[in-house]
Amino acid sequence: MRRRRPVRTLSVMATSILARSIRESATLALNERAALLAEHGQPVIHLGGGEPKNKVPLAAIVSSSARLTSGNVKYVPTDGTPALKQAIIRYTEEYYGRVVAPENVIVSSGAKQSIYNTLLTLVDPQDEVVVLAPYWVSYPEMTRMVYGHPVIVTPEDGSFVPTLAEVEEAFSSYTKALVVNSPNNPSGAVYPDELIAGLVRLCEERGVHLVMDDIYHRLVFDGMRPPSAYSFTEKDVDESMIVVVNGVSKLYGMTGFRVGWTIAPRNLVEVMKNVQAQTTSCPAAVSMSAAEGALTGVQSTVENLRLGIQNQRDVMMQELRAFEGVRVTKPLGTFYCLPDFSAYSHDSEELSRFLLDKALVVTVPGKEFGAEGHLRLSYCGSTKDVTEGIRRLRWALDPSAPNDIYIGDRRLVRDWL
Ligand code: PMP
Repeated sequence: MRRRRPVRTLSVMATSILARSIRESATLALNERAALLAEHGQPVIHLGGGEPKNKVPLAAIVSSSARLTSGNVKYVPTDGTPALKQAIIRYTEEYYGRVVAPENVIVSSGAKQSIYNTLLTLVDPQDEVVVLAPYWVSYPEMTRMVYGHPVIVTPEDGSFVPTLAEVEEAFSSYTKALVVNSPNNPSGAVYPDELIAGLVRLCEERGVHLVMDDIYHRLVFDGMRPPSAYSFTEKDVDESMIVVVNGVSKLYGMTGFRVGWTIAPRNLVEVMKNVQAQTTSCPAAVSMSAAEGALTGVQSTVENLRLGIQNQRDVMMQELRAFEGVRVTKPLGTFYCLPDFSAYSHDSEELSRFLLDKALVVTVPGKEFGAEGHLRLSYCGSTKDVTEGIRRLRWALDPSAPNDIYIGDRRLVRDWL
């Protein structure tokens, strides 16, 4: 007879060891605190944002409204509607120069799910996933969630771009995947072509999957072209080690629709499809219609967004240059930068909390991204947010800034320097 497990009430100990080990998102905790302050009428400035302010492109609204008004919103194929997959195939041809088959494409509920599904599909317990610092917070956590080990590569020269030798050194016989995010959240760095070419070669030689998180790929500045790892391999998509993740969240400002996709060899997609079928069944039909509209509609929205963000980047750089003690590397893409505030504090969480309390400005601690001593600042808000936000940070930290400041209609005097 099978022994019964004793009945337990749900205490913390009843939750799984794995679930308990997942870190709380400090970003979300900060956002909640900022929202609370704003609710109480405090003039909070958000330099912690991760989404553009633009309205959803009209074509996306029209196509999703049509789906909605048809009243026919049911389950759809697990890997995405044929119409959206066709739009993604055309997109891949235009921006990556590759003609892929529908079997190479799987749509998920956001690029986040695409990455998680990819890792769940690739990683066995104890396998290693190489992650390049500064990194997007979710890569190490997701790796742990699939019982893998994240191996972090931190550039020795203090820059935001590793050398090929540093990455190669981190590879072992357990390495299953390398995750690359360029343009990079949080640093705004775009990895040079030679490095991407080297990483493609390295992964092909070692049989390691190269997961390219391309979620910001068209948000690049100063005349740069959207990068594509495919341009560094002769191999066909089905033979290649490259897995490309992309989506509509950042480029089209459609974060709320939750649509992302993966381009991968068909044998990988086949397994990913089973994973998705047993977890979420399929992405939401209305959201997929919206994404189809965005991808097939006029693309000037993306270009307008990109130009606006590039301009904000310039304003942010100008403001930061006047900030005594702060060192910043000019971002080449995304809507983030990662200045070094270690002249003021080596504890970025404490510094971030201090700045929210004193100056009512939300920043994200670099510690979250494997870059202690830094703060991630976003420039996806308004120009006024950028200038006023940095003015307040300077007042709070920089002894050469004036001692008093007006925040809203309150005059505040700095008494801690
Ligand atoms: N990758 C990176 C690097 C990101 O910054 C984000 C969003 N913050 C995602 C993936 C997730 O995108 P999505 O909203 O499509 O899940």
